[in-house]
Amino acid sequence: MSSSQPGASHFIREIIAADVAAGRCREVVTRFPPEPNGYLHIGHAKAVCLDFGTAREFGGRCHLRMDDTNPTKESMEYVEAIQRDIRWLGFDWGKHFYYSADYFERMYECARQLIRMGKAYVCELSQEEWKEYRGVPTRPGRESPWRNRPVEESLDLFARMRAGEFPDGSLCLRAKIDMASPNLHLRDPVLYRILRVPHYRTGDRWVIYPTYDFAHPLEDAFEGVTHSLCTLEFEVHRPLYDWVVQTLGFDPPPRQYEFARLELTYTVMSKRKLLALVRGGYVAGWDDPRMPTLCGMRRRGYPPEAIRNFCEAVGVTKYESLTEVELLEHHVREVLNRTAQRRMAVLEPLRIELENVPEGDVAWVEAPNNPENPADGMRHVPFGRTLWIERDDFCEDPPADFFRLALGRTVRLRGAGYVTCTGVERGPDGQISGLRGRWAPMTERIKVRATIHWVSAAHAVPIEARLYDRLFNVRDLSALPEDDDPLNHLNPDSLRVVRGWGEPALADTRPGETLQFERVGYFCADERDFRPGALVFNRTVTLKDSPVARAGDRR
Ligand code: ATP
Ligand code: MG
Repeated sequence: MSSSQPGASHFIREIIAADVAAGRCREVVTRFPPEPNGYLHIGHAKAVCLDFGTAREFGGRCHLRMDDTNPTKESMEYVEAIQRDIRWLGFDWGKHFYYSADYFERMYECARQLIRMGKAYVCELSQEEWKEYRGVPTRPGRESPWRNRPVEESLDLFARMRAGEFPDGSLCLRAKIDMASPNLHLRDPVLYRILRVPHYRTGDRWVIYPTYDFAHPLEDAFEGVTHSLCTLEFEVHRPLYDWVVQTLGFDPPPRQYEFARLELTYTVMSKRKLLALVRGGYVAGWDDPRMPTLCGMRRRGYPPEAIRNFCEAVGVTKYESLTEVELLEHHVREVLNRTAQRRMAVLEPLRIELENVPEGDVAWVEAPNNPENPADGMRHVPFGRTLWIERDDFCEDPPADFFRLALGRTVRLRGAGYVTCTGVERGPDGQISGLRGRWAPMTERIKVRATIHWVSAAHAVPIEARLYDRLFNVRDLSALPEDDDPLNHLNPDSLRVVRGWGEPALADTRPGETLQFERVGYFCADERDFRPGALVFNRTVTLKDSPVARAGDRR
């Protein structure tokens, strides 16, 4: 593969590159076909990056298609959320936005064509009989008694199915393929069923709906899709996909290729299970920052670039595997380290009075917004007699490996000289209620072993920090026994709310902006709840090796 392709090669890139090189397709056309029955999750992001990303790489196009042939659980709320999330991820379908439901009339015509070709028939077996006739993979099934009914009779019955003459489930349209095939999907699969459920787009215009296996290849063929990429569970459906497009004579036919789903540790991904979390009130909604949904990750402060980089790093294979959530967090940190502005905030505050700094004196310390990116400029942070420092940064009885503040010890104050702890104050309960210290300017160049962050108490703004952690306690939820609900393994400490203090600049954060609280972690101003007077921050991710990265996590 040419080195101009971004990212590592994988089998799908190779297949497409070979098709292009051999002139088998003039323009690469892919599609992303979500069912609008829930919000997109990080697993979908893998498919989005692959579908849109490869089309873009090869100068082709990717269609966004609402796979809405199943009327029971779909809604416009989901359609809009899906569009929003794909745009946020950085992809665009241009004018190629489609609804499967818009093809119902054409699909119906294709079904009639199959009947006329003697390749489909209306069957009157009940659901139970149909299952029994179908048999098991190791033994051939039995042919339906309706299999060889005259074409005219099937055409008539099919029209009357559409007209609503028969009750739900009483008749169905089946393809006539091979009742002895070892692949059960080829044993005269159902193409249309009767279902009186109003559809969110077509209302009650239709009482028959095509099955996924019939609809999907047709949609791909109608749109001129060249490479239809889907997850491995559809591999066994591929012979049926090919049968549909070939029997109906689409030329060139779209081709389906399967890749392994993304699965992540410590979370669930199926929309059904995510919906159960929302409905049961275990999370605050689809966009709860603990959810593996794209809107949840956006609210938590994950940059879309980090998600794209993660998907690229995970790669595309044919083997099912479980990806560590730490890999995702690594990519989040990697992007934020470059892009997030630095601020100082204290989540578990301990007061320290600097005896030699006069009451009311203010010094403005100049600090870089982002040492990784000088273009972000500098800001001024007020410094005064009373500071908030992180409670964890002081230890009364320091063990040998504790180098931060202790009685009689000196540490550096980030950007503001040195402090030596000279005294400890206690409340009536005997607990430490504050410290006293002496300040020394930076010019003294004292040798110290630690630097701590701080906030001037006279200028500090109150902040609320929502400390998010894993939603589940179990690493591999797919390995749970059938009868063990993931809900039994929710992490009771997945959210803790603490109140602390931040430097005044925090009041100017834009909702949705992610900052690094120095030495503590990355925090995103909540896109819903952050406003003047309520500075609400979501912890995006901790810093990898900070001694106070878990600040506030203690009870
Ligand atoms: P879920 O099982 O989570 O409900 P789904 O497969 O039913 O997902 P769809 O809306 O049908 O959801 O998915 C749209 C596309 O996204 C499909 O092509 C599907 O193969 C792909 N997709 C869904 N989940 C994953 C995943 N975990 N990893 C990679 N691709 C996925
Ligand atoms: Mg699906």
